[in-house]
Amino acid sequence: MTFKELNIIPAILNALSKENYNTPTPIQEQAIPAVLAGRDLLGCAQTGTGKTAAFAVPIVQLLSKQHSRPNSKRRIRSLILTPTRELALQISDNIQAFSQYTDLHCTAIVGGVSQKVQERSLNQGADIIIATPGRLIDLMNQKSIDLQYVKILVLDEADSMLDMGFIHDVKKIITKMPSKRQTLFFSATMPPEISKMVKTLLVNPVKVEI
Ligand code: AMP
Repeated sequence: MTFKELNIIPAILNALSKENYNTPTPIQEQAIPAVLAGRDLLGCAQTGTGKTAAFAVPIVQLLSKQHSRPNSKRRIRSLILTPTRELALQISDNIQAFSQYTDLHCTAIVGGVSQKVQERSLNQGADIIIATPGRLIDLMNQKSIDLQYVKILVLDEADSMLDMGFIHDVKKIITKMPSKRQTLFFSATMPPEISKMVKTLLVNPVKVEI
């Protein structure tokens, strides 16, 4: 199997080959067609399996194909929530790489860096944001961020977000985006609280287990 056979567009194929992604990993083979088809996804996978590209590559493709109208404002169309700053920055670097030949903008919203800088970058317009829940809530409380155009939500390492006490923030964030959206949910384990969230957030999901 190749990325081309997964119907990845040339702009992203070029980026993938530049980054030495030559063959999709098993989770990428399973997840990419489902996400491109607009399905919700439940992924039981650890970091190290190629999970990031499994969601990031099809998101970049879906958003770059829905060209924003000329002169229309850039809106946040995908939100990726992840438990730690390190993971957020890593995912952001990956998305920058995959989208380097598209006109998409992505921004990381994490604690420990100047909020002013993040607000400026949001004001310049972002299509995709990768955030830790705490800093995102701060910006939402200050009305610096508008989630009402989000079409694709990713919850990455949901079980870690639960363990770290972020679940209340995550649920609050979800109430601020449209309920008609595509949701991609990743968790290495399925404690009861996480199964409950899966049931309420996902509609007929494709399940991918590695
Ligand atoms: P992840 O599970 O997303 O954290 O990815 C683990 C590591 O594998 C990262 O260093 C990725 O850059 C790398 N990787 C993921 N998918 C591929 C692929 N299809 N080809 C080559 N490297 C990959």
